[in-house]
Amino acid sequence: MRRLVAAGVLGWACTFACAETPDERDAGSSPDLGFADGDASTGDGTVGDLGDANLKDAEPEDRDPGDAPSFDLGPGDAAPEDSGPTDLGSSDASLDAGPTPTAPLLPIPGELTIFQLDLPAGVTFRLGEAAILVGPAGSVALLDVGNSNHDDEVRARVAQLNQARGRPAGQVEWIVLTHFHGDHIGAMEGLFTGNDPLTVTRGVVHRGFVDLGEAMNTGDYAQICGLLRGPLAPVDRPLCTSVVNPPCTFSAGDDPAVANDCPGLRAGDLLDPSDDALGLPASFELDGVQISLSAANAWLHDGNGTSALPAFGHNDSNEENARSLVGQIAYGGFRYHFGGDLTGSGDPGEPDVESPWANTVAPTLYGSDGVDVTHVHHHARRTSSNANLVTALCPLDGRARNVIAGINAVYVGSPYAEVLDAFTMGGRLGRGAFWVTEVAAGSANPAAYPDLVVSDGEVIVQTFGAGAGYWVQAAGPSLAARAFTALR
Ligand SMILES: [Zn+2]
Repeated sequence: MRRLVAAGVLGWACTFACAETPDERDAGSSPDLGFADGDASTGDGTVGDLGDANLKDAEPEDRDPGDAPSFDLGPGDAAPEDSGPTDLGSSDASLDAGPTPTAPLLPIPGELTIFQLDLPAGVTFRLGEAAILVGPAGSVALLDVGNSNHDDEVRARVAQLNQARGRPAGQVEWIVLTHFHGDHIGAMEGLFTGNDPLTVTRGVVHRGFVDLGEAMNTGDYAQICGLLRGPLAPVDRPLCTSVVNPPCTFSAGDDPAVANDCPGLRAGDLLDPSDDALGLPASFELDGVQISLSAANAWLHDGNGTSALPAFGHNDSNEENARSLVGQIAYGGFRYHFGGDLTGSGDPGEPDVESPWANTVAPTLYGSDGVDVTHVHHHARRTSSNANLVTALCPLDGRARNVIAGINAVYVGSPYAEVLDAFTMGGRLGRGAFWVTEVAAGSANPAAYPDLVVSDGEVIVQTFGAGAGYWVQAAGPSLAARAFTALR
């Protein structure tokens, strides 16, 4: 019985878009699934490639973790005892990373901890990714929230992390929603309604209700729009605007409410109107951690001001992905990049926003250092991570950098070989690695990638020395961790 449910779910998933998908709850509550068949077939260019044979292979029952090859860590690094301070290398000897963690990392005072949640597909349709940031004083930010079947898991993890710091279980300071696909926003409705709603005290940051289209998840959009115009209105922080404010009931054929500006993207501190005229990139603070945004809705902030990329359509799944927010998390010398499901292949229906971002924003933002940790775009699907982006984030200079991907079994094909190649070939990550929550069926062969670390659980990043260095931990059964010096 379970097999039938799972197979049906996965078949449905990939029919409608392994690129991005609405979720089962939406399917049950509304005939509008957010995607038409036609959209999915041209989705991110990966969906059509999967084919029925691959969908059959995607059944989770076909993947016995016990049969998987051992590929958790590269030779010599496999044992946690190898990855303590002595594993930092001679140039890092002065840094005190502390003992190698022997349990999943928990938030600690004075440090930033980022939990890339593992959100297993389960027997219901569970597709999505979410990260929880816990600031040095315990404040919490969510970076996407998973689909509507993940609200219980996200709520429970938020409560656990809050209680570890003596905070109210449901309190969240900030939420960043990269774009309007169900696997990133669908849990919002469940998180803020029902018997045990979260509270958000400072802001829900999103691109604004602009450039909507048939590639968006209409049901999820309607719910989040209702929340942000209703109970969450005091904390609504949209970045872009349109001439006509669209209704929450967007449907096919409606005006997509084309963005005419993104004033929020140059508003500086999102809680401080007094600096809005300075034109600084949008930012907010989480206990001294600076989170800033450099792109939204295919508008870029290059450090001097905002500009729009050439317009593209609204009906392809990757046209919604291409409107993802792009940002960095900075604490001490530590830099973490995120960009939702941003695209870069340049194929039809896959606008290349990665290249202009890499060419115009990254040099100002990151210079020649790149970033310590990249949250890889689009679940490591090959629509993402083009050479321009990878070079900007991970220059080939021998220094250690890390990549993290939020993947579950429904993202059939992830991580793609093209993406793993782009980040790992030629020793680009140095001592770093490409860390994934899970590997989906049809992915690149993990055994071929010694720099791939499969957690089968959360991937946790925690700074030490107030951002002078950081740990990356695969918090699943292997419980492996490595320490790194921050690049700056
Ligand atoms: Zn996604």
